[in-house]
Amino acid sequence: MLLKNVLIILVIVYTIDAVKKSYDGYKLYQIVPKDEREVDILNDVYYSNLGEFWVEYFKAKDDVKVMVSPKNLEKFQEVLRVGNVEAKEIIGDVQKVINDQLKPATSRASDTYLSYSWSAYHDLDAIYKWLDELETNHTEVKTVVMGKSLENRDIKGIIINYHPEINKPIGMIEGTLHAREWISAATVTWFIKEFLTSTDPQIRALAENFEWHVFPVVNPDGYVYTFTDNRMWRKNRSPASAKTCAEGVDDDMSHGVDLNRNFDFEWATVGASNDSCTNTYAGPSPASEPETKAIAEYALSLKNKGNFMYYLSYHSYTQLIIVPYSHVQSDGALLSGNYGDMFEIAVRGSDAMRRRNGTEYRVGLSVHVLYPMSGSSFDWVKYYTNVPISYLIELRDLGEYGFLLPPEQIIPTALENMDGLIEMDRTARSLRYYAHTSGASRVLVSAVVVAFGIVMSLLG
Ligand SMILES: [Zn+2]
Repeated sequence: MLLKNVLIILVIVYTIDAVKKSYDGYKLYQIVPKDEREVDILNDVYYSNLGEFWVEYFKAKDDVKVMVSPKNLEKFQEVLRVGNVEAKEIIGDVQKVINDQLKPATSRASDTYLSYSWSAYHDLDAIYKWLDELETNHTEVKTVVMGKSLENRDIKGIIINYHPEINKPIGMIEGTLHAREWISAATVTWFIKEFLTSTDPQIRALAENFEWHVFPVVNPDGYVYTFTDNRMWRKNRSPASAKTCAEGVDDDMSHGVDLNRNFDFEWATVGASNDSCTNTYAGPSPASEPETKAIAEYALSLKNKGNFMYYLSYHSYTQLIIVPYSHVQSDGALLSGNYGDMFEIAVRGSDAMRRRNGTEYRVGLSVHVLYPMSGSSFDWVKYYTNVPISYLIELRDLGEYGFLLPPEQIIPTALENMDGLIEMDRTARSLRYYAHTSGASRVLVSAVVVAFGIVMSLLG
C-alpha cells in the first residue's frame, strides 16, 4: 500500500515536471538587419521556424531578438553565415535566466506590503490573495471580478475609491494581457501599493482624486501557464484548433488567441495573424474570447458611469508609450480626435520617467514606434468609450532580458512609471481634461470658465 502511494506520488511529480517546457541550452540572439536583403534572410529563418522570435514583425534596422533551440542551432548559424548576417549572442542559456528570474532580489522593508513583495515575481494565487488582504485592511478598497477566463478563473481587480461621496474622474489600469510580460503585474501592483500607502503628496492626490479600477492580470489562464508549463507563453489558453502546427513549431502553439489582437476594432486588418499557431493569432472572430468580452464590457460600464478619464494598458518590453490608433499610418493620427494632447501628455510623462534613472521611453503611434496592429484593447477602449486618454505602455527593458527582466529591476521600473503617471496626470489637468474636485479648486475653475465666457461674448 505504502509503495503504491509512493509510486503514485512519483508519477504525479514526474508528470508535472515532464510537461513544463524546458529552455535548457536555448540561446538568445540579437540581430539588426542592415537592409532588405538581410530582412529577407531573417524572414526565411522566421518561416522555417529555426528560431522563436521575440518580436512579431520587423524591418531593416529593427532590433530583432531570436531564441534558438540547441537542436536548431547549427542550421540557424549556417543560414546566417551563408547570408553574411551578423548575430550577437545575448543570452547563452535561456533556462538559466528563467531560473534566475524566480530568485528574489535582496529586499528592503519598503519592498513589501502585507503578504506581497516587489523583490520577486508572484504567481496568480499570491496576487489574488493580496488583493483580498487589501480589501480587509482598507475601507476604500473593494475587490471586483470583471468576468471569468476561458478556464473559468476570476479576472480579479480592485476599486480604490477615497471619498466615495465625491464624484471623481475614473482611471482603469489593465495589467498582463500578455501572459509572459510579468513586469506588468509587478508594476501595476506597485501602483496599488503606492495609492494605498504612499505619503508623497503628489501620489496622494493622484490616488484620492480618482476612482481607480486596477486589474493586475487580465489574462489569468495564460499567466498561470507561464508558471506551470511554458515561461514564454503570450496568448490566452483557448482550445487548440484541430490542426497541428508547421514543422518546427510546438503543436501547443495552436492553443490560444492573442487577446491584444482580438478586440472588435479594425479586427484582423493589420499586424495580426489568422494562423492559430502564431503569437499574434487574432482569434476565429472579433471578441471571440471571454477575457476580451469581460474587459470591453467593464470599460463600457465605466463609460456609462461617466467621467471615464484614463485607460492604461501595461505590457513589456521595449519602453514605449503608444498613442492610439495602432492601425493607422502617419496621416491617420488625427482620427483619435485628441492625438496632439495625448502625444504631449505622453512626452511629458516620458521626460519625467527619464529623469529618475535615465530610462528612455519613446512616444508615438504604433506605426512609428512598433508596427501597425489591430484589435488591441487600448484602441478599442479609446474608440468605443471615448475615454480621453488611452495608452499602451511597454515597460522595461530594451531586450537585454526582454520578458525575463530580473527582479532587481521591478522597483526601478515601477518607480519611474509612477513618476510618469504623476506627470501625465499633471499635464492632462493643465490641459483642462479635468479639475480637482476639492471645493476650492472647483470654485476657481468655475470662476475662470465664467470669466472666459464673458470675455468671449464681449469679443463676439
Ligand atoms: Zn504585450
